[in-house]
Amino acid sequence: MPLDNMQMEEIRRLLQKKKQDLTEATDKKPEKAPVKKAAAKKGAKKAAAKTVKKKPNPVQAAISGELREVDAALKRLKEQESRFGYCEHCFMEIPWRELAVNPARRFCSRCV
Ligand SMILES: [Zn+2]
Repeated sequence: MPLDNMQMEEIRRLLQKKKQDLTEATDKKPEKAPVKKAAAKKGAKKAAAKTVKKKPNPVQAAISGELREVDAALKRLKEQESRFGYCEHCFMEIPWRELAVNPARRFCSRCV
């Protein structure tokens, strides 16, 4: 059974809430990494590239990955509402209770 309007609304609400939470989580931390001035000195170009290269904070990376998923889900919800809630791999319906846990999911429990 496809999702009814109330479930669609619920999904949209959950996604927007999640997006908000994730955005706030990423905003908290300032992006600026302390750049070591010493590294800019002689012959440090190579070394600097290695050391200064932004090491993605795993937490931040996870958050931005999730944020992308949420955005993609919102887009699908908007543009392909009739297909939302179906596995992108086998086209089986994803159970509502699973969508409610993670509205951004794209695959059923067998295809994850
Ligand atoms: Zn599947």
